Amino acid sequence: MPEFEQLLEATIRHVESLKAEGVLTLPVDQAVVGELMRPLVRSAPRGSQSPPRHEGVGRAFPSSQAGPASSEFDGERLTGEAKAQAIVHLQERAMACVKCSHLVRSRRNVVFGVGTHDAELMFVGEAPGMDEDAQGEPFVGKAGQLLTRIIETMGLSREQVYIGNVLKCRPDTPGRRYGNRKPTPQEMVTCRPFLMEQIRIIQPRVLVALGATAVEGLMGVSSVAITRYRGEFRELKGIPVMPTYHPSYVLRNQSLPIKRQIWEDMLKVMARLGMPISEKQQGYFTPPKR
Ligand code: SF4
Repeated sequence: MPEFEQLLEATIRHVESLKAEGVLTLPVDQAVVGELMRPLVRSAPRGSQSPPRHEGVGRAFPSSQAGPASSEFDGERLTGEAKAQAIVHLQERAMACVKCSHLVRSRRNVVFGVGTHDAELMFVGEAPGMDEDAQGEPFVGKAGQLLTRIIETMGLSREQVYIGNVLKCRPDTPGRRYGNRKPTPQEMVTCRPFLMEQIRIIQPRVLVALGATAVEGLMGVSSVAITRYRGEFRELKGIPVMPTYHPSYVLRNQSLPIKRQIWEDMLKVMARLGMPISEKQQGYFTPPKR
């Protein structure tokens, strides 16, 4: 284990023992916090930086933009260098976050997000799984590969959108080495401010929430039945949100009607963004004519 992680582990154990003894506040010098954050920022995992806007994004999203010109998120709308700096600063804070001590102990990476900070379309999942935790990038496992195929079928690339999760750390699975678990409502409430700040900075024109848990975490609602909730735009502070299935659900239910449903949701997203939709795209996953 690298020296910094050993130090962090020891610090967390010490703080937890103080908390168990009833110590609720600790004086910490800002300069010390800054120094502690430095190694984390340098070792930001692959894919977690927001790359600059890519050529071709403008072609995918024509200037006759559907959707709101501005959202109701507080604060000024950032552009250019200020936007890039804001997202890097937020990432630094997330990388140093130790709010959920049980997740800090088990995580290998803080999975912040990937894509361009100028994205007009942002996908939100529930939390990193084992593959994402290992690689430090959201949606890289089998479900991630399917999401990439969906994005490409829409005529876009992963670099032209932004992909993040409600929870930035992998939900722990005590006693199990493999498998993933859903984030708890409490974990999502704790981490949600990072997501909301990401959205405030990026200001996408459309959000896509992948699966019931992501809908609940993103919208702050509970007990969502995704089969009934999906397919109709909702709104988060002025930004249209399309709830749809999580790609892992589609992997488990490979029927034509399910594939068609998630694709119809994406067609609605494309229409909302004013993207061109070909006849071929319109017809994907329709039942063969007899
Ligand atoms: S899940 Fe979010 S709030 Fe909890 S430790 Fe990770 S970054 Fe911090």
